Amino acid sequence: MSQETLFTRIINGQIPGKFVHRDEDIVAIRDINPQAPTHVLVIPVKPLPSLAEAGPEDEALLGRLLLTAKRVAEQEGLAEGGYRLVINVGGQGGQTVPHLHVHLLGGRQMTWPPG
Ligand code: 5GP
Repeated sequence: MSQETLFTRIINGQIPGKFVHRDEDIVAIRDINPQAPTHVLVIPVKPLPSLAEAGPEDEALLGRLLLTAKRVAEQEGLAEGGYRLVINVGGQGGQTVPHLHVHLLGGRQMTWPPG
């Protein structure tokens, strides 16, 4: 898969990003428009357009995505107080960037239901 997305451009350094984690398969960057004191996007380097496009071949990657989100939450000091992970899928799910990503939100009390 080689299509360009906003996030592949950030990963490739064409657009600046504030990285809090980076490995061969997964990166985490601070959201440009944070919705909580901590708002990080955890993103697979592979540009899957959304969770809806993930297949059985992505099982290990999806596991690593969640475990990386957990590790970044710990790194950001959120483990004790708690945090929220969000994956928006498709238009009605509120997804605006067509490259799978997990929102890590923390540092304030979350409410339910989400908007
Ligand atoms: P979605 O709406 O697709 O679930 O989330 C996309 C997220 O990407 C939004 O929270 C938005 O603020 C963030 N975003 C959009 N453009 C940029 C950018 O250029 N840099 C960073 N770091 N985040 C961005």
